[in-house]
Amino acid sequence: MTYQAPIRDIAFALKAAGLGRLEPLVEGLDDGVVQAVLEGAGELASGVLAPLNRVGDREGSRLENGRVVTPPGFVEAYRAFAEGGWNSLSADPEFGGQGLPKALELAVFEMVNASNMAFALCPTLTQAEIEALQRHGTDRHKRLLLPKMVSGEWTGTMHLTEPQAGSDLAAIRTMAEPDGQGGYRLNGQKIFITWGDHDLTPNIVHLILARTPDAPPGVRGLSLFVATSREVGEDGRLGVANDLRPASLEHKLGIHASPTCVMLYEGARAELVGELNQGLAHMFVMMNAARVSVGVQGVGIAEGAYQHALAYARERRQGRSPWSQDPSALIFDHPDVRRMLAAMKAKIAAARSICFSAGVAADLARLAPTPEERRKADLRSQLLTPIAKAWSTDVGVEVASLGVQVHGGMGFIEETGAAQYYRDARIAPIYEGTNGIQAMDLVGRKLGLADGEAVADLIAEMRALVPDLDAGVGGALATGIDAVERASRGLAKAGGAPALAGAAAYLKLFGDVLGGAMLCKGALATAAGDDPAWAKDRSALARFHAEQVLTAAPALADADLAGDEALKQIAF
Ligand SMILES: Cc1cc2nc3c(=O)[nH]c(=O)nc-3n(C[C@H](O)[C@H](O)[C@H](O)COP(=O)(O)OP(=O)(O)OC[C@H]3O[C@@H](n4cnc5c(N)ncnc54)[C@H](O)[C@@H]3O)c2cc1C
Repeated sequence: MTYQAPIRDIAFALKAAGLGRLEPLVEGLDDGVVQAVLEGAGELASGVLAPLNRVGDREGSRLENGRVVTPPGFVEAYRAFAEGGWNSLSADPEFGGQGLPKALELAVFEMVNASNMAFALCPTLTQAEIEALQRHGTDRHKRLLLPKMVSGEWTGTMHLTEPQAGSDLAAIRTMAEPDGQGGYRLNGQKIFITWGDHDLTPNIVHLILARTPDAPPGVRGLSLFVATSREVGEDGRLGVANDLRPASLEHKLGIHASPTCVMLYEGARAELVGELNQGLAHMFVMMNAARVSVGVQGVGIAEGAYQHALAYARERRQGRSPWSQDPSALIFDHPDVRRMLAAMKAKIAAARSICFSAGVAADLARLAPTPEERRKADLRSQLLTPIAKAWSTDVGVEVASLGVQVHGGMGFIEETGAAQYYRDARIAPIYEGTNGIQAMDLVGRKLGLADGEAVADLIAEMRALVPDLDAGVGGALATGIDAVERASRGLAKAGGAPALAGAAAYLKLFGDVLGGAMLCKGALATAAGDDPAWAKDRSALARFHAEQVLTAAPALADADLAGDEALKQIAF
């Protein structure tokens, strides 16, 4: 599959998200570095990763003699990825990382996902685990594991799910027994473990949630453990294999190259990470990092699907267009096809901005000069995380579905590749906390965060854009913001089941309006620039989203506030 990295769009979205605020805080960060990083990643994505996307889908990863074998070309591509330094962009220089902003890494990973989402999952999980170990690992973990993970010599995985414990982690049963020498022995089974085994690297570092013998029930009794697939000596040398193994691989709708493993622990040696019984809180460092990265998967897969559909629309001829005299017009010249392409382009730009803003907020929460700025940025990061994850991954599915539709019947035929985007996109609303769980998080935790300060600040920021916009677009944005404000007040008051029944519609409303505000911000920024064609394009995108999406915001707010009565009355 071909893929052209949309460097200009990505660089623009990074700027609009506030990357400039990080320049004085991150050594060596400037426009030139950002451009060089984006261009390098674009070359890797289109030259190395995209050509493997189809073979990865067709052949998938296989389990042979108890070990996972990846599709042809993946070992070499991973080597090129790691040797190019792409694994270590945001990692701490103390462990060999480049110390660049998370937001820039997210931008790079949009391209990695767009070209090969199944491949991207492996380093995405490694990066999230690096964050968790940087924060909660022991000195030994930092000395022996982190440098190898940062360089990409070893990869990382995340083990939460068990057959009876999916969204509800309180039901986890995997046991960790003290071994009497300061370590633990794990026994149990996990399912759905992404890249749980593979042939890309000689060792894999697994972060595992498990329960110690006398732990309290529920999530308060979960602790976090690290186990490597091969023993790591004090000198860093690899020893014997650990007693954990992939028992089988799942057969899936999409991301076939990504091995999804059932993992068995049969007395596996493991070490505690952080404090006993604080495992879920520690794992959340990894999960929160991964949630925004999964949002970026939605953006990437949507961009890939969009490029594919646009190319087809510029090739395929059917019927007469009202916009041209040609009796056999390009389907690109039919208003309805143009509508689909415009919807795809606007949603991608909006989701990209939301995800990058979440990345900048996470960076500022660490790096901003004053405690108050860090506190504010942390609130923003917490608020944006469920929206970035859920709204952007829903956009991924919606855009990939439109991509199939633009292709007509050929979209349903595997050869065109449009179907693969659709199949691959479908997992992202499910893992890393389903989008239903993200919506519950938004309503249950983030709406009331700091007594509503997080939501109020974001609403005020969006409102400040309105006076600078023309009456039509500004009016639509104001209507959308009013709808978010009304729904926020109503849901906070309603609470309980009625609020949970409206949670998914509220997250959609919030994403629609926030995305619209970001498109408006982009339009305003380019209007002041020196490229009239670019300004016209950005202004039209904001107008299209205002006309097609923001106008529906009041109805979505009504849906948010409809409560749970009808749900209880329907006979199933
Ligand atoms: C391809 C793939 C890769 C994965 N990778 C990993 C991995 O690397 N590591 C890992 O640990 N896990 C992984 N998972 C597991 C994934 O995170 C879970 O599938 C996901 O969290 C949902 O859990 P579940 O499948 O048990 O669904 P369930 O929890 O059974 O949910 C079913 C439905 O019920 C809803 N639901 C559940 N509880 C509630 C509630 N309290 N309120 C409202 N609605 C609710 C859900 O939103 C969903 O719609 C992966 C899964 C897949 C398919």
